[in-house]
Amino acid sequence: MEATTAMALNIEEIREDFPILHQEVYNKPLVYFDNAASTQKPLQVVEALTNYYLNDHANVHRGVHYLSQKATDKFEAARETTKRFFNAESSDEVIFTKGTTDGINLVAYSFGEAFIKEGDEIIISTMEHHSNIVPWQMLCDRKKAILRVIPISDKGELDMEAYQNLLSSKTKLVSVVHTSNALGTINPVKEITQSAKSVNAYVLIDGAQAAPHQKIDVQEIGCDFYVFSGHKIFGPTGIGALYGKREILEAMPPYQGGGEMIKTVTFEKTTYNELPFKFEAGTPNIADVMGFAVAMDYMNSVGYENIQAHENALLKYATDQLKQNFENVRIIGEADNKASVISFLLGNAHPYDVGALLDKMGIAVRTGHHCTEPLMNRLNIPGTVRASFAFYNTFEEIDLMINALKRAEKMLM
Ligand code: PLP
Repeated sequence: MEATTAMALNIEEIREDFPILHQEVYNKPLVYFDNAASTQKPLQVVEALTNYYLNDHANVHRGVHYLSQKATDKFEAARETTKRFFNAESSDEVIFTKGTTDGINLVAYSFGEAFIKEGDEIIISTMEHHSNIVPWQMLCDRKKAILRVIPISDKGELDMEAYQNLLSSKTKLVSVVHTSNALGTINPVKEITQSAKSVNAYVLIDGAQAAPHQKIDVQEIGCDFYVFSGHKIFGPTGIGALYGKREILEAMPPYQGGGEMIKTVTFEKTTYNELPFKFEAGTPNIADVMGFAVAMDYMNSVGYENIQAHENALLKYATDQLKQNFENVRIIGEADNKASVISFLLGNAHPYDVGALLDKMGIAVRTGHHCTEPLMNRLNIPGTVRASFAFYNTFEEIDLMINALKRAEKMLM
């Protein structure tokens, strides 16, 4: 185990907030390295959900009574927290969604409806998650628009020269992932945005894997849209947020119709509500919004610098250990700028077999294509074994994974 890493974080204390981590599976201590799929929840988040249902629940925005106003105040306070999380200019630019996928679909449908026409081009990249591919394919089908794809290098970095060459006056939108879930690559989203702006294209950033690891600043990036999911930042499932620049959201039609999103309704004509409510039809996911805000507060209390220092140390330690202990290991994704995600292959062993054996030794990793099939095709592999670390993970857990991998190697080769 690495003894020299300077740590400002008291990991043992942090782990006390995550009871789920203190369990055994198959009589082995659980090692949870599937954080890129979903992170665990601190007690503070779980308590926010229970507290809401025990003490504060009523429908929001419509009630004159005490409880409804209390719930509404807390709901809108959570929007302020999310605004600060994004560093957005105004909380009117923050739309609550079901998560990253929902946010991208909202933009693909609504922005697509108003801004995309036949022959327009939308640029994505080879390393996108399916949720940042399929909604654009569907939009291109609807509008007879064209999807262009930025290639990547063998190291797993975007080919920025190729990107520049793809940009033209036909480009209407660039939609790229901030941090790749399969490779860990952190993309230069500010530079990508600046280039897109030189041809007057709009920019969406998929922040599903960046938000758990680093401070998000939409004004610094300069993007038009940014999306992420609550369940990947230690919050509840079924909740997330979309940031959109005010003037673009104003120009977009509603995504869904119903209550909350209207100002007045007659059988002849309906007028729509103001931002952000125009995009939040129906009773929202109030309880999970409460937990979502507490998750953001929790990340702030741990501190982004601390999170990054610890996770970078874990990433380096795990990468070194894999390379030192396994002659035939192949790390998939060796970008210079990487988050704490390691995808790898062990000799000719199928990722699924490695993952299934690790599971029996208490180690939870993800195997497969990680919802990035086109990326796996580009790399000519069926999938990878992926270990992804959060700030509550430890060097000892990496040692346990390495030992388990040694046993798996003996069994499989
Ligand atoms: N984009 C990336 C990069 C992801 O890693 C994920 C989930 O793994 C998503 C989008 C989709 O997120 P969700 O399933 O929370 O909507």
